[in-house]
Amino acid sequence: MTMQPPCPACGGTATATRLRISADEATAHFVPHGHANFEPLRQHIRQLWAGDTAELKQCSGCGFGFCWPYRAGDAEFYRLAYPTTSYPVMKWEFGRTIAALRKIGAKPRSILEVGAGDGFFLRLLTPDFCKTAQMEATEFNAAAVRRLQADGIQASATDIRGAEWGDRQGAFDAIFLFQVVEHMDDLHGLFGRLSALLAADGHIFIAVPNTFRTSFNEDNGSLIDMPPNHVGRWTEKAFAEASRPHGLNVLEAAIEPFSLKRFARQDIYYSHRRRAQTEGTFSAQARKVKSPAVRKVAEPLAALAGVPGRLPVWLRAARATPHLGGALWVHLARSH
Ligand SMILES: [Zn+2]
Repeated sequence: MTMQPPCPACGGTATATRLRISADEATAHFVPHGHANFEPLRQHIRQLWAGDTAELKQCSGCGFGFCWPYRAGDAEFYRLAYPTTSYPVMKWEFGRTIAALRKIGAKPRSILEVGAGDGFFLRLLTPDFCKTAQMEATEFNAAAVRRLQADGIQASATDIRGAEWGDRQGAFDAIFLFQVVEHMDDLHGLFGRLSALLAADGHIFIAVPNTFRTSFNEDNGSLIDMPPNHVGRWTEKAFAEASRPHGLNVLEAAIEPFSLKRFARQDIYYSHRRRAQTEGTFSAQARKVKSPAVRKVAEPLAALAGVPGRLPVWLRAARATPHLGGALWVHLARSH
C-alpha cells in the first residue's frame, strides 16, 4: 500500500485516487497525435510530473480534487498546449460579482485582477465602481498585457506570489480571480499573499469550474478536465479550508444556474474531443485533417454525428440540476 498525499486545501489525509493519466493521454487532450507540438508537449508534461503518469486525487474531507504530482502548468506548457488564446466575453460570475459589489455598496479605491485576460471584466467596472487608474492586473499573455496598458490599467506578467508583490501590504480593497485558481499550485503561497494584499475590510471574489459538473462530464464520456492545465478542483468547503489559516473566510458561495441548452452545446463539442482521443474514430480523423478549411467542416460534422449517443447523458444532466451549472463562485473576506 502506498501513502496517499495530503490534501493541498485542508491538509486531510483521507484522499483517494479517482483517475490515473499517462503523459500520452494528457498530451492527446491538448493537441492531436501527429501535431508538431505533440512530442515536445509530451516530453514537457513528463518533465513536470517527473515520470510518465499523474493521478487525480479527491479529498473526502473537503471535496477538493487535485493532480498528483501537484504541479501547475508553466509558461512552456501553455505555449505548447494552447498555440492560440482567446478570452471570454460575458460570464455569469462577472454579473454575480458586480451584484455583490453593489449590495456591499463598495466604492473600491484600488482593485487587482489576477489573470485579467484582455480586461473584459475590469471594463465592466468602469465608470460605476472604479476608474482605470485605480486598477491593477496580472496576466501572462503579452498581447493581453499591452491591451490592458493601452486602456490605462497598470498590468504586468507577474505572479502575485512573487517577491515583487511582497511589499504591497493591504493595498487592495477588492481582488478578483476568475478561472485562474484551478490552474494554480502552492495554495498556501496564494492565500497567504491574497490575505497580505487585501485591505482590512476588503473583498476577494473567485470563480472556478464547478467540480460537480467536471465529475459528471468525466463519468459520462465527455472530456477529462486534464492536468496540468487545471490542477485543482474546488468546492465551497475547500475554499473555506484553504483560506482559513490565512485569516480569510467564505462570506457567500453560489453555483451558476444550470442551462440545458448551454450544457448540450458544450457536450456536443467536448464529447467529440473525447472521442477524438481514440485513434480511428470519425472524430479523431476529422481533427487530424490538415487543411483548416476542410477541418472547419469535418469537425462539426463529427461532433454532430455523436448527438444521438449523447441524448441519454443530457437527460441525466437535466435530472441532476441545480448542481451542474458551469461555475462555482465564492466571496471571501477577512474573518473577524
Ligand atoms: Zn481536503
